[in-house]
This record gives sequence, C-alpha cells and structure tokens, in this order.
Amino acid sequence: MVLTEKKGEKVDLIGPKNDRKEVDHRNGPPQSVTDAEKELKLMIEKLKTSSFELIIRNRIAEIFLTKIEDEIYSEVLKVILESLKSEYGVFGYLDENGALVVPTMIRHIWDNCEVPDKDIIFPRETWGDSAWSTAIREKRTIYSNEPATLTLEGHFQITRHISLPILYHNEVIGLFQVANKETDYTPEDVALLETIGKNIAPVLNARLHRDRAESERIKVMEELAKAHTRYQEHFNTVSIGLLRSTPGPGPEGTFIDVNPTMVKLFEADSREQLMALHPSELYLDASQRKIVSEAIISKGFIQGAELKFKTLKGKTIWCRFSVVKKIDADGLVYFDATIEDVTESKRLVEQLQKSEELFRMLVETMNDGLAITDTAGIMTYANPRLCGLLGYSREELIGKPWRGLFNEEALRILAEQTAKRKKGEGESYEIPWRTKDGRTIYTLISGKPIHDSLGNFMGSFGVISDITERKRAVETLRRTMEELAQSNKDLEQFAYVASHDLQEPLRMVASYVQLIEKRYKGKLDKDADEFIAYAVEGATRMQKLINDLLAYSRVRTRGKPFEPVDINKVMEQIMSYLSSNIQETGAKILWNGLPTIAADETQMVQLLQNLVGNGIKFHGKDPPEVRISAVREEKEWRFYVKDNGIGIDMQYKDRIFVVFQRLHGREEYPGTGIGLAICKSIVERHGGRIVVESELGKGSTFTFTIPIKEPMIDRA
Ligand code: ADP
Repeated sequence: MVLTEKKGEKVDLIGPKNDRKEVDHRNGPPQSVTDAEKELKLMIEKLKTSSFELIIRNRIAEIFLTKIEDEIYSEVLKVILESLKSEYGVFGYLDENGALVVPTMIRHIWDNCEVPDKDIIFPRETWGDSAWSTAIREKRTIYSNEPATLTLEGHFQITRHISLPILYHNEVIGLFQVANKETDYTPEDVALLETIGKNIAPVLNARLHRDRAESERIKVMEELAKAHTRYQEHFNTVSIGLLRSTPGPGPEGTFIDVNPTMVKLFEADSREQLMALHPSELYLDASQRKIVSEAIISKGFIQGAELKFKTLKGKTIWCRFSVVKKIDADGLVYFDATIEDVTESKRLVEQLQKSEELFRMLVETMNDGLAITDTAGIMTYANPRLCGLLGYSREELIGKPWRGLFNEEALRILAEQTAKRKKGEGESYEIPWRTKDGRTIYTLISGKPIHDSLGNFMGSFGVISDITERKRAVETLRRTMEELAQSNKDLEQFAYVASHDLQEPLRMVASYVQLIEKRYKGKLDKDADEFIAYAVEGATRMQKLINDLLAYSRVRTRGKPFEPVDINKVMEQIMSYLSSNIQETGAKILWNGLPTIAADETQMVQLLQNLVGNGIKFHGKDPPEVRISAVREEKEWRFYVKDNGIGIDMQYKDRIFVVFQRLHGREEYPGTGIGLAICKSIVERHGGRIVVESELGKGSTFTFTIPIKEPMIDRA
C-alpha cells in the first residue's frame, strides 16, 4: 500500500513536460510526429522507469541507513514486493557457512507456510533443486510464469516467480525471490530486480562484513568477560593467598589487591582492614620486606621462599612465598605474590623428625638386635645390640652378604622366610648364627616385610632376640624331665615289684604271728600277750599298706583300655560296696543324670569309691551327705563330688594327693593315706586333673575332669 502511494507521488513528480523535452533533446530529433510521439512516450516510460528505480534505490538506501538488524531485510523486501507487485517474496543472505539466512519473512508467508520444521536458516544440504537454489548455485536469474512444481508439501502455491542471486564480485552473497504477481513477470521486472540486486550488493556486503566483524567482536568480548569471571572466581576461592602490591613508596610497600584467603590467613576482619596495612607489617621481622623487595626487583621473582609472618591477631605463621615482578602499561612496577600457610606441615615435619629421633634412640638402645634388609636380603641397618651379639662392627655387617654368619640349614630357613615375607607374611622363627669368634648363638627372629606406599616389597626388618641361654635351659629341662620320667617309671616298677614280692613273706609273718596269738594268748605272761598283739597289728597294717601300694602302682602298670562307661552304673556298684558304711553313718549319696564316658571302668569305680568313701568317712556332726554331679564343657567332662563333712585346710590342698600323706591320726579316722594318690593317678592316666576346694567345717568339693575329645587314648 505504501509503495502504491509513494509510487503515485513519485511518478507524478517525474511527470512534468520539461523533463520530456530534455529527454527528446538527448535522443536526437524525431522522425515524424507519430514517431516523435512514440519516441517521446518511450522516453517518458524510460524516464519513469529510471526515476522509479531511483526512488526504490533511495528507499532502500534509507532503509539500510535507518533500520537496524533484521528489520532491514523485511523493510527492503516490502519495497521490492510493492515495486514488483508480488504477493510473496524472500530477501536473504548467505552466512559464513554458506547457508541461506532469511532473517524475516513477511508475516503472511510465514503464516501460510506449513512446511514442517520451517526455519529462517537453510543450510546448503537442505536446499534441494528448487528455483532459488538453482539461481544461487548457477549465479543466474531464473524467472518463470509457470506454476512451480517442486514446492514442498505445505508450501503455498507459487504461480510465477523471479529468483535472483545477489552477486558481489561475482560471488553470491544473497537472494531475492518474488512470486505470485497477478500478471506475468516481464523482462522489465527482471531487469528492475537485477538493478536493485546490483545496487544493494555492495551495501549488503558491507553490512554482512560489519555484522560478522561485530559478532566476532562480541564473541571475543564475551570470552574476555568469561575469562575475567573465571579469574575473579579463582581469585576469590583459591585456597592460596594471592596479593598484588607495589614495591614502595619506602620499603613498606602498598597493597593493590588481596584475595579472601589472604584475609582469612592473616586473621583480618575485612579486606579493607588488611588493605590498609603495609605489606611489611605482615612480616614477623618487618625489615625483611626490604630485602625481599630488593631481591624481586633485581631477580624478577622469588620462588617458594619460606618465611615467618604474623597475623593481625599476633599469631606467627610459616608461609611459602612466591613473587613475580610485573610492569603495567604505564611502566609502573608491581608484585604479584602467592602465600601458602605451611605451619602445619612444618610442625608435622618437626614432629616426624622428633619421633624418628625417638625411634632411632629406641632401636639403638634396645636389648634385642635389629636388622633391616633390602629386597635382596642384604643388611642395610644393624643396631649396636646385633653388632655386640655377633662381635662384628656395623661396617662389617652392612652391605655384606650373610654367608659367613650362617650354616647351610640356617641359610635354607632364611631363604624360606624371605620368600614368605615377600608374600606379605611375617612370622617368628628360630635360627642359629655364627659369631665372629666362631661361637654359635641361637636367636628368635620376629620378621616383618616393609612395603612402600604403593605396596611394593622393599625389604624386611627383623628383631633378633638372643635365646641361646633359654635354649640351653629348655634343653636341660627336657633332659631332666626325661630323666625324671624314667626314674618315676623305675620307682613305680620298684613299688610294684616290692609290694608284690613283699606280700608273700609278709603273709607268712602275719599268719604265724596270728597263729602264735591264737595258741599262746593267756599262756605266757602279760607282756608277751601285749607284744604279740602289737606284732599282729603291725603285720596287719603292713599288709594293708603293701596292698594299697600295690593298688597304687597298678593304676599305671595294670590299667585297662578305655571303653564307654556309664557312670550311673558305676555309682550303683559303689552303693553296694559301701552299703555297710552308709548304713552305719546314715549317709545320703545323691546323683542323677551322670554321663557315659570313655574310661577304664575298674578305675572309675576305684576313683569314685575313694572320693565317696572319704566323703562318708570324714563326716562332721551331721549324717554325711555326698552329691555327685557332672557338667559337660567344650573338651571335657567336669565331675563334682561334694560332701558336708569336716572340710580340709586349703594349705594342704596339694599334700593330700601325695602317697601316705594324711591329715589325721589313725585313731581319729582310719586309713593309709593312699586313696587320693590313687585318685590323682587314675585321673591323670585319663588325661584329666583333680583338685579340691574346701573350707574347714563346711565340707569339701573334689573336682576332676575327663577329656571328651580323645577318649580312646590311654595315657599310661
Ligand atoms: P585316707 O583316707 O586313707 O587317709 P586319702 O588319701 O584318701 O587317705 O586322704 C588323705 C587325707 O586327706 C585324709 O587323711 C584326710 O585328712 C584328707 N581327706 C580326704 N578326703 C577328705 C574329705 N572328704 N574331707 C576331709 N578330709 C579329707
């Protein structure tokens, strides 16, 4: 609409007749009136055309000058559509990737177009073979008054069109396309569009260049801004103190900037508080700043200096300090520095040194030898004690092969242990060494592998204890035990033989003495009667002692193999054996649920009969009560025989188990003092132990154990 108005205006403007004359004059005299008129008309047409072109050019120029960004394209397009009386049109440019960009399309094109994914950027690979793409590719104007056949589905119908590449220095930089004029497009239309294209090319080119340069500039600016933000973030969050300062004025210097870590590190309340100080005020020794400053100026930098600083709250801190000298655009020198608090690591190092010293002292003075060996088993350290043990100096031991120190067997053990330690196993082992003066010493080595932080085997260390003396003592003990066992055996044999062989003559003595008593009692004098009575009693007692001794020696020499024995049945037997004692004393014997165990049955009867018998015999005022019970433990049965009798003074708890040891006179309580010795021997033969717990006057409890796991092993 606007164009029509303007066109009308402009056409009217170039309509005056004097214009026509000028044109006439320029084109020579007319041939005839009609000819002249025709020519005049033609010229007027031309003039109209060129002035029309001019108007368009002016409008376009104005658009380029006054409009911004994408508006230019839609405004220019509007002018062109109006000029060419076209319903639809496109004005686009090729971007740096060669894609066609159509920044805006007039609203009704956009709205009428129903192509899926419609866009304003058409990358080259999506172009296809339509008229406009052919125009661009072939750098020529294509126009047709035939309806287009190649339009995409959804695209509005193109009845006729002109597609014109905008060329600049023979390169396509843009595209005009007009379509759907009501009447056919004429060559004049094409010429007009081409003229517009030609005119617009340099301006469009300049604009595209400017746009590209601008977008480059914006990109660079954005990158710069990002980099600055990154730097700022880094500056604000990095855990190292960052500061910028000037060398002067004076040796104190001035801060230009400090980061938050600096504020925290120096315990300032705020950045401003820290900035208000002179850098020199942070030095523990303020005069150092001058030296540091001069060093930076002359050398250009300081790398990792460790200095003591003080915080605003007066705390001393060790810091690692690096500074670079820089010069700004105005030639002024400034320092950029990093400050790292190393107080803690310094403290740790000091602590480490101290503990190392302590360990060294410990190792140097310890009573055991200590050696460290490398992966090849070569000694890299030996403490004074080891040197002393072996009689070698440290120099003689360190770095030398072990050979001379060991015999073949020891070397074999060592190789085996080194292999074990390489696998991460460390254990104690005994090994003999040869000393410098040729003696053999026995040692116990507690070895441990040494690994580096990555777990690689680095060698071993071993604590070496001299066990020569201990070994000798053990050896002596073993020999003594052996001898003792032998003599015990001999003794048992002797007791057996003696008591067995003594029985016969003793029986003879006893029976003859008893015969004498029978025949001559009351026939000789009173003294003789008394003497004979003593002899009879002595002989009887001796017979009893000999019998008991024989029974004792038989526990080990005549034991039977172990078989399952039901202790309840054993108890029933004992009840019948002890029935008269039970009746006499009114004793109560209580038991229930006793186990079946692997044992020598006869000996079990003997054992329990002795214990129950004693429980009855050594009763107090109350009638005796003896309880027998058993508890199953992990590896053994524990039996309890508890009575309510006179009790035993615990100082005699061991003595009562010794042969012939009694705590009472025969007149008080009869007996030979061998019963408990037999009990002990039986229990031990079965692999158990027997003990007594008692309190005088309150009864006694005899406890014995019989192993469960190895019931069939006869320990005799
Ligand atoms: P005997 O019973 O022949 O004296 P034992 O060897 O059986 O010999 O006992 C040794 C001593 O231990 C006894 O003389 C007695 O003094 C003490 N004795 C043993 N059993 C008990 C008990 N149940 N109560 C108190 N004393 C006991």
